[in-house]
Amino acid sequence: MNSKDSGSMAALLQHQQQAHKLQMLVTAAQRRERIQQVINLLVEHHQAFAEAIEADFNGRSQGFSIMNDVLGSLASLKYTRDNLEPWLKSESREVFAPYDQLGSTARVEYQPKGSVGIIGTWNAPLYTLFAPLACVLGAGNRAILKPSEVTPKTAALVAQLFAKHIDPLLVSVVTGGADTGAKFSELPFDHLVFTGSTQVGKKIMAAAAKNLVPVTLELGGKSPAVLSQDCDLSESCKRLALAKSNNGGQVCVSPDIVYVPRNKLDQVAALLLENFSHFYPEITHNPDFVPSVNRQHCQRVVDLVEQARDAGCQVLSSHEVANLAELVTSDKRLPLQLVISPDKELDIMQQEIFGAALVLLPYDDIDGVINDINSRAKPLALYYFGENDAELSKLLANTSSGGVAINDCLMHAALHDAPFGGIGASGMGHYHGREGFLAFSHQRTVFVAPKHDPRGEWGLLPPHHEQFKAM
Ligand code: NAD
Repeated sequence: MNSKDSGSMAALLQHQQQAHKLQMLVTAAQRRERIQQVINLLVEHHQAFAEAIEADFNGRSQGFSIMNDVLGSLASLKYTRDNLEPWLKSESREVFAPYDQLGSTARVEYQPKGSVGIIGTWNAPLYTLFAPLACVLGAGNRAILKPSEVTPKTAALVAQLFAKHIDPLLVSVVTGGADTGAKFSELPFDHLVFTGSTQVGKKIMAAAAKNLVPVTLELGGKSPAVLSQDCDLSESCKRLALAKSNNGGQVCVSPDIVYVPRNKLDQVAALLLENFSHFYPEITHNPDFVPSVNRQHCQRVVDLVEQARDAGCQVLSSHEVANLAELVTSDKRLPLQLVISPDKELDIMQQEIFGAALVLLPYDDIDGVINDINSRAKPLALYYFGENDAELSKLLANTSSGGVAINDCLMHAALHDAPFGGIGASGMGHYHGREGFLAFSHQRTVFVAPKHDPRGEWGLLPPHHEQFKAM
């Protein structure tokens, strides 16, 4: 389905909500079958999806898209399909005395909410739609997807294939840019999931608030990594370089800032550059390295680096490049740029980098690192490299972040049996696995009263005004 005006999007939502009202009970078998339809669509058309993403990025390798977007989405869908049965079961709860002795019971039931809107991004153009969709369908809902306009061929293919293979009353797709997104987020969904920037996340929440639509916001931020004095520098820098290069640095949990013991700064910089150029001996036209999605995003990263350089910061590059700006109009693959100790006011310290640049900040003690992390908005991820348990405990106890990985980056975001989400400016709510099921289910308490009503014997029937006078 092509771009929709707000009237037809509203009609589409109404039809889904009507269908939901006619079938509010969705059995485990029906949920599994619905998820299976989406799995079949992905498996059957994985090649076409990989080709569309390659064309949208003008060079993201099909292998990377299959690994990142197709297999990542399939893993989410299959995990939910194979585990949802026990999640659906109602849970009995404690009843207060003496109702418990009179045969009273209480339970919590998990009901589908209805129709859920899902707005995705371009950096993982399938995963940011299909991974939430897995939880949304697992919870028995219907959905309308709004892919990112920055990857238009992928968005068109998602729309075309869903229209062809999936009942629009179960999952529909609308395409379009920010205007469509704005109208989409004003619709009275039963829940809205947004993956994207913090800036747009605020607009989404404001729009959803008009209809009291609950939101899950999967946003970004500046995720820090801390290298401990005792860490294995060589292995840590290898893992950091690998994580930073993933998707050309265009990952929501990509490390942005690395805190380095002051006496190890030169060594760490050298190891990061060495590892990066070992993985990517050539950058230009290297199919293993994902280019910036478009010129505008490439230019944004170059501007962050150049502003820091102009301000007198030391900038180190993994590959020799005469002029970074020239890459914007050619290959859009930037070599790793290390920006050493930039001033807090510079854009590279204020904005999410979302590209192949990394800030190195030397530190003297862990308390200073904790203060510095806490001086910024709560990040989506926090990374620690080292074996110092006392230091790690202190760092974990005194900071906040969406998630944490120790001695690696990104890996926690790939877990299906653990909630994924941000906190503060990096987002709200979670998805993945059971937490995703809970996020998109209404948790409904059901109290069953006893046959015998004890309130008369307890003196709890009106009139009350005399009874409680003395209290
Ligand atoms: P974006 O916020 O510009 O756009 C995201 C989506 O919102 C797109 O579909 C877009 O069409 C839509 N949109 C844009 N303006 C809108 C408006 N005014 N009203 C409603 N919808 C609107 O973000 P982006 O550039 O596509 O993605 C990059 C950001 O996403 C980064 O900050 C990154 O960290 C974040 N991200 C987060 C996660 C996560 O899981 N937390 C995953 C991937 C990306």
